[in-house]
Parts: sequence; structure tokens; C-alpha cells
Amino acid sequence: MKAKEIRIAYCSVDIGELDKDLQRLVEEAKRQTDSAYCPYSNFSVGAAVLLDNGVIVGGNNQENIAYPSGLCAERTAMFYANSQHPDHKPMAIAIAAKNGGQFLDKPICPCGGCRQALLEAELRYKSPIRVILYGTQDTLVIESIADMLPFAFVSFD
Ligand SMILES: [Zn+2]
Repeated sequence: MKAKEIRIAYCSVDIGELDKDLQRLVEEAKRQTDSAYCPYSNFSVGAAVLLDNGVIVGGNNQENIAYPSGLCAERTAMFYANSQHPDHKPMAIAIAAKNGGQFLDKPICPCGGCRQALLEAELRYKSPIRVILYGTQDTLVIESIADMLPFAFVSFD
């Protein structure tokens, strides 16, 4: 047996340390929480995707009484970006969440299904997508989706 290890690097940042485009991206993710449709969980998630032309596309969680029929904010935003701007590469995604109307102190991470969908966007556009996870006390920056999904389900051809 040979033990192996996977390490990822990420940063804890103050919002002011981010460049202006990324600060705008975080603000849009926060703003997106206001229009989440989450009557069942009361957990509002906002996401915003920065494209290589500077356009920012937002999305938020959309729940449904038939629970699995809803969709997370991250996929709502990325699918919208990919459908409306297929020729523009996603450069970064910011995610923010409110529970009961208050932003969370610590950031939340995308669920496994969203990581898989976001990874496909990275592979499709052949470029890492920076992830910014907003929290009022701590904000994290991860340099690529691949870092968040080791042993991903990917094509082997
Ligand atoms: Zn998700």
C-alpha cells in the first residue's frame, strides 16, 4: 500500500483585498440573495459569475414544493451564463448566503452537484474558475473548481 495525499491551497481575504471586478462580483452575489425563492428552507443563496468580457451574471436558489425539482444558486447562475453568453468564458463565481435574513459569518461551499456542474464549465472553457465564498467574518478564495472536487467524475478519453 502506498499512501497518497491531495492538497489544495486557498486564501482567506478581506473583501478590500480583491480587485474591483471581484468586489463587484461579491456584491452581486449578496444582492442575488434578495431574490432567492426559498419558502421551504428560508435559506437564501446568491451566486454571481464574472465572464471574460466583464459581464456579471447572477442567480439564486429556486425551490419547489417537489423538493428535488428546485435548483441551487450556483447552477442557476452558471447555466444562465452559459446559455446566454456561450462565447464568453466564466472567470470567477462568488457565492453568498443568508439564513433567516442574515448573511452567514462563515462562507458556505457549493454542494457536490454544483461542484460537478461548475467543473464541467471549467473543462468546457479550458480555464480555471476562481471561487469566492463570502462570509461576514471570513471570505475564502479558491483558485479553481477542480481544487474543490478531487476524484471528479470526468471523461477519460
Ligand atoms: Zn448546489
